[in-house]
Amino acid sequence: MDPLLEGYRRFRAEIWPAERARYEALAHWGQSPQTMVVACSDSRVDPQTVFGAAPGEMFVLRNVAGLVPPYQPDAGYHGASAAIEFGVRVLKVSRLVVLGHAQCGGVRAMALGAPEPARDFVASWVEIGKPALSASGDAAGRLDETEAAVVRLSLANLMTFPWVAEAVKEGRLALHGFRFDIHTGVLSRVEADGVRPVD
Ligand SMILES: [Zn+2]
Repeated sequence: MDPLLEGYRRFRAEIWPAERARYEALAHWGQSPQTMVVACSDSRVDPQTVFGAAPGEMFVLRNVAGLVPPYQPDAGYHGASAAIEFGVRVLKVSRLVVLGHAQCGGVRAMALGAPEPARDFVASWVEIGKPALSASGDAAGRLDETEAAVVRLSLANLMTFPWVAEAVKEGRLALHGFRFDIHTGVLSRVEADGVRPVD
């Protein structure tokens, strides 16, 4: 039995009948999510699960370590920046959330080096987060702090996108940083001066 297709059959049998009207409306009217989330690809940290979001409510970008690169409009293949451009300029989301997490392999690769088989792309990708290492003391034993510093760095990088900065300045867009602890399931706010659990 293929667990992937078994999951699909469960979706069709158990979820689709209840959600059908929602999907039909989304197909008819198109998507208009209010929130965009930038999160890690880690299989344990699904933003829609953590925030209890329904289909159509959340525009999600996931990549290794949940990084936002700095604004760099050149001929490179900027997948992350393309998603941010679409979310902010086309969908006009009103909040943009950066969701970091505990035990992040991407942050670990940043601090301690990428795993040997992941040198073609992962090693250079996580370079984006390097400024966060010095911000958090550059110590392997302090990965928790580095994870929070990486969220702050991504939020700072978002502000290098001129149309993000403009939307924030005009009050059309709010930026938020969070960190999810896989072991306890607790979500915390990443603020400039600390990390505080959400009530
Ligand atoms: Zn991660």
